[in-house]
Parts: sequence; structure tokens; C-alpha cells
Amino acid sequence: MTGLDITRIDALEILDCRGEPTVQVELEVADEIVVRADVPAGRSTGANEATELRDGENRYGGKGVREAVKSVIEEIGPRVVGMDVTRQRDIDRAMIELDGTIDKSRLGANAVVGVSLAAARGAATALDLPLYRYINVNAHVLPVPLVNLINGGRHASNDLDFQEFCIFPVGAETFAEAMEIAFVVNSVLREIIVRHYGKIAANVGDEGGFAPPIVSVREAMDRLAEAVQRSGFADKIVFGLDCAATHLFDRASRTYGLEGRRLAADRLLEFYKGLIKSYPIATIEDPFAEDDVEGFVAATRELGIQVVGDDFFCTDPARLRQRLPLGAANALLWKVNQIGTLSEAMDAADIALRSRCGVMVSERSGETEDAIIADLVVGLNAGQIKTGAPVRGERTAKYNRLLRIERELGPAARYAGRDYRVR
Ligand code: PEP
Ligand code: MG
Repeated sequence: MTGLDITRIDALEILDCRGEPTVQVELEVADEIVVRADVPAGRSTGANEATELRDGENRYGGKGVREAVKSVIEEIGPRVVGMDVTRQRDIDRAMIELDGTIDKSRLGANAVVGVSLAAARGAATALDLPLYRYINVNAHVLPVPLVNLINGGRHASNDLDFQEFCIFPVGAETFAEAMEIAFVVNSVLREIIVRHYGKIAANVGDEGGFAPPIVSVREAMDRLAEAVQRSGFADKIVFGLDCAATHLFDRASRTYGLEGRRLAADRLLEFYKGLIKSYPIATIEDPFAEDDVEGFVAATRELGIQVVGDDFFCTDPARLRQRLPLGAANALLWKVNQIGTLSEAMDAADIALRSRCGVMVSERSGETEDAIIADLVVGLNAGQIKTGAPVRGERTAKYNRLLRIERELGPAARYAGRDYRVR
């Protein structure tokens, strides 16, 4: 045994921020170092994501994860205990082989990704390094946060079709200043929402953004733009949207549902062009459905802004290799649990960056207090992160970790600012 061997693996069914069960993996290195990693879960998921294992019985409305916990304890544990924890690719490969499916559905992607992330954290801890530095000796870029202040779509109980209306404080000097800006805009927005829709409208959605009873996309943008104007930070802020259009698409008619109308892709593209003329939108995610390659190509060619693929890529190296050369999207939304292992997700980031494509590290709507993506975004020097509103513990855990990393790096830290897209 070396001082870096995995000596024990355990797992537990815990709860995510929606109160739904998820997997927590505990991993021990060299009989003495114990680390944990929690697995997040999406709600507006892509069809091509690695597949979670859910128990499907009466417990927790079928969402229990005892089977995934069992996968970790009874199958993955015996396979990876004894392996050197720093051999991330070997560990991930061993789990992929053991699973034997293309979507990790036998062991459960929620089991596999938990072990994968716990291994990275265990290695960093055993080597006495912060995780971001373990991943990359040159880690130093603090990301611009895409701060989600109004929630709609599947993340809120309102009728707003787009899922996320965000500010992107590219003009801040530091990550800490970006957070201050987010606080001010969020506070002003709260006042505006209460004034227009009453105080009950200031309740929040799954990612901590307000979920007011707004139907019109432009009305939501107007409220956000007013908050930015009144905050005094207008020169430092641009906007971002996640349309999550997979969930607006009707396969039969090949149209998108928006504000009670049904739009063909070309009309939806015109709608985006109009929005971009009216508001300084710099980034748009999933403007078309996950398999609407043509829509993505047109958006990338004609909108002139960052077009981010979430459901469209599912952080899958194979999908990136296939779709990037077509000119479909120019940024990747990077979610480790979409593909199921850290090394495959890092391959996806690599492919994107080599193609001069942006990488935005992202939370899931169902998060826990685990802040691992904060270390990962700095480790990748990715330059952009999406981790919800600046409220609710599972969101602020990531922001707080980034504030800590910025201080730890001291003068070596560089806030990505307007260079968010390229390394
Ligand atoms: C998203 O669509 O970008 C997102 C974070 O949502 P979910 O985790 O529900 O897929
Ligand atoms: Mg999305």
C-alpha cells in the first residue's frame, strides 16, 4: 500500500436542496483521510445525460437512491479500493467498465459521479493541496458569475417560459466585487417586484431567483434592466438567459411554445434577435431544443453572442466532437453529472477550449452544500460559472468558496471579467 491508496468507500442517502434524495459518497485514503462528495440532480435534464439510478418504489415518491448507494458499497467499492487515488482516469475507467452500459444506468450515474468527485477531493486532500491546484498548477482565473435573478420554466411555479434571467457582471474588477454587485441588483429587484406584483411575488424558485407571476419574457427583462439601472452598476453588467428550449419544443409540430404562441425555429430566432437589440444580452443558453442542430447553427451564426449548449452537449465529448465542427454553439455548459465522471467532463472541457469555445461551469437545480464546482471552475481556468442567485445556502456555498479561493490566491488571482470566454 502507498500513502495514496483508497482504503474504504461508503455512501449514504442524503437530501438535496429540493428535499429529494441524493447520494453522498465517503472515501478514505491511506486509512486516515476521509472526504465526502455529494451528487447534484437536474430537473430540466437533457435526454442524453448519463442516467441516475432511482429506486422507483414508494419511498420518497420513487426518488430514493438506496440502489445507487448499494452500487457504491457493493460494486464500486470492491473494484476501486486499493487503487491509487491520484489515478483519476484509471478510477473513472474502472467504473465505466464495471457499469458496462453507455449511459452508466446499471450502477447509476449518481453512484459513479459521486465516487469520481470524491476521488479527486481525496487526492487533493491527501496531497495537502486545494482541489483547484491539484487539478491545475496554473489555476488562477476567478470566474464571472452568471447570477440567476429571475426563475421560470421548470424551476419555478410561474408561467414564464424561459428558465433563467441572469446578470453577468463582466465589468467588476474582482470576484468579490461581482458578488457585491449581485447583492445590490438582487435587493433592488426585490423592491421592484414587490412594487409591481405584491410581496408574495418575491418568493424564490429552485435556484434562488425570484419567481414572480410574469408571463412575458420582455417584461421579465424590463424588471431586471430597471434593477440594473437603479443599482448604479449598469456599465459593469451584461445579461444572460437560459431558455432551456428543449422543454418548449413540440416534436410533432416542430414548434416552440412561447407566451401562448407556437413558433417555428426561424420565428424564435427573430424573437432572440429582437431581444438582443433591446437589452445587452451577452450569453444565451439552449436557445433551441437539444436536437435542433440547425437552430443552434443559425443562432451561433446570426446572434453574434455566446451561444451555450447545455442539453445540446450534455458535457459529452462525443457530442462536442460531432457538433462543434458544424458551427453549432460556441460555448459548453459544463456539468460533471451529465456525463458521470470527472475525467470525461475534463475531456469535454478540453475539446471545447481547443476549439476556442467557451466553458461555463454549472450547478444543477438540485444542489447540496457541496461547493466542489467552485474549485473545478478555478482548476479549469474556465472563466465563467453559473450557480444560481446569491441567496440560499446551496448556492452561496459555491460563491463563498470562490471568495475564499480569491483570497487564497492573493495577487495571483485574476478575475476573468470581459475575457470570460477564452482562457
Ligand atoms: C440548467 O438547465 O442549466 C440547469 C442548471 O437546470 P437543471 O439542473 O434542472 O438541468
Ligand atoms: Mg440549462
